[in-house]
Amino acid sequence: MYDEKGNKTTLRKSSQHKCPNCGAYLVYDPETQDMICEHCDSKVDIKFNYAVRERGFDELENAPRWSDSNVECYRCSNCGASTVMDRDTLATSCPYCGSPVVVETKKRSYVRPDTAIPFQVTDEEARDGILKWRRKRILAPRDFRKHIAIDEMKGVYLPVWTFDSNTETFYNGRLGRRRTRTVRRNGKTYTETYIDWFYVNGTVNMAFDDILVRGNNNVPEKYFDKLKPFPQQLYVVYDDKYLAGYIADNYSVQPLDAYEQAKERMRNRIHSEILRMYNADVVGVLNLDVRIKDRSFKYAMLPVYITASKYRNKVFNQYVSGVFNANKQVKVAGRYPKSPLKIGLLIALGLALFVGAFLIMNRFGGFDNVDISFALGHVKNSLTIW
Ligand SMILES: [Zn+2]
Ligand SMILES: [Zn+2]
Repeated sequence: MYDEKGNKTTLRKSSQHKCPNCGAYLVYDPETQDMICEHCDSKVDIKFNYAVRERGFDELENAPRWSDSNVECYRCSNCGASTVMDRDTLATSCPYCGSPVVVETKKRSYVRPDTAIPFQVTDEEARDGILKWRRKRILAPRDFRKHIAIDEMKGVYLPVWTFDSNTETFYNGRLGRRRTRTVRRNGKTYTETYIDWFYVNGTVNMAFDDILVRGNNNVPEKYFDKLKPFPQQLYVVYDDKYLAGYIADNYSVQPLDAYEQAKERMRNRIHSEILRMYNADVVGVLNLDVRIKDRSFKYAMLPVYITASKYRNKVFNQYVSGVFNANKQVKVAGRYPKSPLKIGLLIALGLALFVGAFLIMNRFGGFDNVDISFALGHVKNSLTIW
């Protein structure tokens, strides 16, 4: 990204965290997970606090807001993404669409995160991962795979709500099990299926831990799912230090609406648990009266690198998880352009195989003049083109 004078800049500057040795800006270093001074190489150890606390819903109203931090909120005039940056970070473009952002100070009433997973993957590792990933997209045009630079990539914390609840559910209904029986009719044996119905009622207690509801859909769900998991043991108490050089994305799903989604999922789980208890596979009626005995929430931030690289004037976002997978490799997902020529060739190949198979079957199907070589030659030709 560039500053007002057109110089290339990094995001990583924050006057809130100054080097105790020389007074220069400190930056968060994913590799060591310390704050480091790029000027004198001093290191300030970050003491991660793993004692992440759940909040009761009664605390929601008084939960800390961004206005308590030294941050600035922005809204992208192009795609609408709402982001938060450390006040002295140079905000010049939106992480999602690359267009210039507009300052918006009123929205600082957003809840501040309780917890975050700090970045582990470095900028270079993320870029490397994306370039390798692009090279493997065989349907993408050649210049995209090999030559498009990653000029726009930012480390973004994505917002998620997580909920805990203890529930007590009164239920009644009519369930059934599918059974088979052998019957004799007119001297013959038949196997027939029938449903064995029975009535149920009772109480079931279930506890739910960390049901995750995404705070917005800025990263489409199918890509987000590929970046998972974000392991539980990596969550630490949020500190503004983790924002030095990164962007926090704001939620658009309000906490109580997110909780409604979580409740729906709990209800479904309770429903299937009751079926499991009775070994039932058919539901006639099942009434649930779910009582929430207690509930708590956390507002969490998950680390993801996002590119807004353009190819022929269209933005194709790629995403890299800020945490490594079990094999210490980076996880990449995202969109890429597909070459019409390659898609065309793929369809042609499919057609050729189909026609080839048809011809072979036709020749074997009774005609005297069997000419398999023609059909095979056809398929081979298309393979060579490919
Ligand atoms: Zn220093
Ligand atoms: Zn945007």
